[in-house]
Formats: sequence, structure tokens, C-alpha cells
Amino acid sequence: MGGKIKNILIVLLTFLPCIFILLLFHAGFEFSLHKESKQHAVKVVKEIDSILNYGEESNNLALNLISDGDSCEKIYSEMRINVARIPYVRTINLAHGNNIYCTSLWGAAEFHSDSMKYISGKLYLMPGSNVEQKYPLIAVRTVIGENVALSGIDGRYIKQLLSEQKNNSFVISLAIGDSWLTHNNEFTHDNPNKSFLAVQRVESKNFPFSVYSGFNSSSSWLAFWQEDQFYIVVILLFQILFSIFCWWQLTRPRPLYLELERAIRKNEFVPYAQPVVDSVTQEIIGVEILMRWKHPYQGIVRPDLFIPQAEDSGLIIPMTHMLLKETSRQLREYKHCLPAPFHVGVNISPQHCNSSILLDECKYFVDGVSNHNIILVLELTEREALDVSEFTQDLFHDLKILGCKIAIDDFGTGHSSLVNLQKINLDYLKIDQIFVKNIGVDCTSEHLIESTVELAKRLSLRIIAEGVETEAQAEYLKKQGIENLQGFLFAKPIPLGEFLQNYNQNINVIDND
Ligand code: C2E
Ligand code: CA
Ligand code: CA
Repeated sequence: MGGKIKNILIVLLTFLPCIFILLLFHAGFEFSLHKESKQHAVKVVKEIDSILNYGEESNNLALNLISDGDSCEKIYSEMRINVARIPYVRTINLAHGNNIYCTSLWGAAEFHSDSMKYISGKLYLMPGSNVEQKYPLIAVRTVIGENVALSGIDGRYIKQLLSEQKNNSFVISLAIGDSWLTHNNEFTHDNPNKSFLAVQRVESKNFPFSVYSGFNSSSSWLAFWQEDQFYIVVILLFQILFSIFCWWQLTRPRPLYLELERAIRKNEFVPYAQPVVDSVTQEIIGVEILMRWKHPYQGIVRPDLFIPQAEDSGLIIPMTHMLLKETSRQLREYKHCLPAPFHVGVNISPQHCNSSILLDECKYFVDGVSNHNIILVLELTEREALDVSEFTQDLFHDLKILGCKIAIDDFGTGHSSLVNLQKINLDYLKIDQIFVKNIGVDCTSEHLIESTVELAKRLSLRIIAEGVETEAQAEYLKKQGIENLQGFLFAKPIPLGEFLQNYNQNINVIDND
């Protein structure tokens, strides 16, 4: 679970910034695409404007010629000279209304020209001319009174303009009314820009035409990749390096005591409870509080993985302080439904017994639960030797007055000496699970249990046997006269809150029955 959270965190740290940076760069790419597209279109509009201006100029020259009333024969040669002299213009025609009567190609002639086809009466994009039917042509129309001049601009000049782009991926097309001239010099009535990206339309201010510019790619992401491959790879590489760094930060081993200090600040140590039962009735007479570390990444951590370090660094004292406080708080809520007396065993390290803080903490606990039937049992674990000084003796004396009871934990495995048993006014001996496990297997364990029972009787101590896993073990211990049992046979340790809730519910069910 903890590992999972860490992995999710690393994956998020890798992908989220990656996605964010790529989205940002992609947005920038799209923006520059639109900008560039517009710049292309503006440039082409200017160039087409200047070409069409030549058409208008040649129209004006032709109209000036007929203002003297000359016939077509007279002005025709002048018109041909103008066609040769003025760039881009292929033909000049003169008309009255819709009837062309004079052309620079054939002189006097009669053709019909529909003025309605001219957009704003000025421009007409034709798929081809009478001479070259395959080549689109743009006709520029100028009207002065009754007289009309029409000049033809060869579409090939425009085609050259549309296809001569610095960046080959940009495609430019020209629209006059609903007719289009594409970058391939194709004449069409269909908008050729539908499949392009970042399409920009720029209208001419002088003539009724527009230029469309777009990027020739099926997807903006594909275009982004094609254009900025190098940067994308660099971004991804940086991101991977960043993730490796985060992963290293998250996983590098920190000294355990630093982690424990952090966990104390974050209140990560929580009480679990395992019931202690009466060996005859098998009813719950109390619980042992067992510390668990709710680690943000590693989940629930067993105490044997951190208690020895906590004892070595002295941090076990603030940790036990937290545990006692939290246990007292949770018990207070359920104190009315607990049996009387209800024993609450808490493990206390020997070093804790050299400080008067323990007395204050126990007072706080007892005041907190404010129920004299809840009895705090201090289980003195013996990983470190317990030095029973005068101070400790006084402390235990005060603890007894407060109503607490004292137990020697893991009896027979630690440093407990008979001298200590004499000095401390004990209440319980806890037989360690190692002896319980060997019942029926190894007769030395059974002898040890029997001797402990004998000793306890003489000293008027009660015995709790822990680690009871089978009915046979429970039966044997009961026969030996051991009063209290604890082990997986009855229940495994669970969060204290959960234990109290279950217990309360069971009591209610029994009461209702
Ligand atoms: P302990 O005080 O001897 O606690 C009993 C241990 O035996 C607990 O292990 C419990 O879960 C386990 N146990 C109980 N019944 C059975 C069973 O039937 N079979 C087996 N195999 N195990 C059983 P846990 O909770 O892992 O605690 C280990 C030790 O850590 C404790 O041994 C105690 O010495 C220490 N510890 C736990 N909480 C604290 C604490 O708050 N302060 C201090 N100083 N030590 C603590
Ligand atoms: Ca214990
Ligand atoms: Ca034990």
C-alpha cells in the first residue's frame, strides 16, 4: 500500500509535469503557427494586390484611348503595346455593358461578358480563357461611364506566388467569391482549406479577394512533433532526469531516528489492541496496547522494526507519551461499555522508568479515562536491563498509589532477575510466547512454565500467557492455573478504535438478546 502510494507519486511526478510542459509548448507552437500563417497570407495579399493594380492600370490606359472616340482598329495596336509593356497582363478587352467589341488579341470582335460574374463588379476568377482553357485566369474590370475595360491576368503568375512559400508546409489559396485557386493552380468551388491547420484568412482592402493560409498537416500534435522533435526529446529527457531525482529523494534511506522524529511530529504512531481473556470463562478482561507506525509510504509498520531504534535514540519516551494520550482519548468514549475491571496493558521501556514523566503521563491517562475500573497495567519490557534504583522504587510506589499495576513482560527471556522481583511490588508476570509455542513440543518450556507458575503463587502474582494459538495450549495453561491468556486463538491485534467499536456492538447484541 505504502509502496503503491510512492509508485503513484513517482508516476505522477513524471507524467504530470511532462504532460503540462508538452501542452504548454504545444499551445505556443499553435500560436506561432497561427501567427506565421497570418504573416504569409498578408504578404501574399500585398503581392496579388500589386499584380491586380497592373490590370487596373492597363484598363485605365485602354479607357483613355477610347475617350477620343477612336474605333477598335485605331486603338488596337496601342492596346497590344500596353499588353507587352505592362507586366502580368495577357489581354486587354473593351466592352459596352456586357458586349466586348475590341480585344488586344484579335482586334474588333464580338463576345459576351457577363458583368454579374464579377465580384463587386471588379474581379472574376475564370477556370480558363478562350485561348488557354486549362489555365485559370483573373479578369480585372474597370468601368468609366458606358465604357468597360477588362484585362486578363495569367493565373500562372498567381500560382507561382501561391506555391513559392519559404516554409513548404504552408499552403496558400486565393478566393474570389465562391471560386478558389489553390496552391496547385487548381480551379475549384470547394474550400480547399478544410483539412489544414491554423488556417488564416486575410482580405484585400483594394480588391474583392481573400487569401487563405494554412499548415498542411492532419494533426497539430503530428505537426508539433515534426517541427520540434529536438525540443520535445530534450524536454522528455529533462523530465526523466527530474523524476529519477524525485525517486531517489523519496526512496533514499534516511537515518531511522530522523524518520521517527518526523513521525512523532506527524502523530503517525497509533494504538492497536489485542484482547486478554480469562482462561476459564474466555471473557475479555482487558487488552494489550501494541504500537503501530502508520507510515505514509510503507503503510502499517510492525513495532519490532522500529522499537529497538526508538529505545536506542530515547525517542521511545515521546512515542509512548503519544500512545498513552491517544489510548486514553479513545477509551474515554467507550468507558461505560467496558467490563469492570478492564485492564489496559501498555509496554514501557526500562529507560522510561528512570524519569518522573512516566508518573505524569499515567496521571494524565487515569484522569483522561476518569473511570476507576479501567486499570493501567505497565508492562516492563526487558530488552534493556531494568536498573531498579531508589528513584524507580519510589516511582513504582507512586504509580501503585495512582492505581496502576505492574507486569514483567517476556518473563524468562530478558534481563529480569529475582532481585528485581523482590524490589518491585509486582502484580503480573507475562509468560513469553516462545514458551507457549513449545507446549507439547519441548518439555523444557513446560518445566519453565510450571516453575513460573510456582514462583508466581509464592509471590502472589497473577500470570498472563501470551502467544496462545491453539486450543491445546489454552487447555494446558488453564490446567496450570494461569488466569489470563492472550493470543491469535482469541484475536489478533487490531486498531484500538475498531476493537472498542466491535466490543460495544457485541455487548449491545447480548443485551438485546
Ligand atoms: P510483546 O509485548 O511481547 O507483545 C506481544 C507480541 O506478540 C505482539 O507483537 C503480538 O502481536 C504478538 N502476538 C500476540 N499473540 C500472538 C500469537 O498468538 N502468535 C504470535 N506469533 N504472535 C502473537 P507485536 O505487536 O509485533 O509487538 C512486538 C513487540 O514490540 C512487543 O512484544 C513489545 O515488546 C514491543 N512493543 C509493541 N508496542 C510497544 C510499545 O508501545 N512500547 C514498547 N516499548 N514496546 C512495544
Ligand atoms: Ca507486552
Ligand atoms: Ca513477548
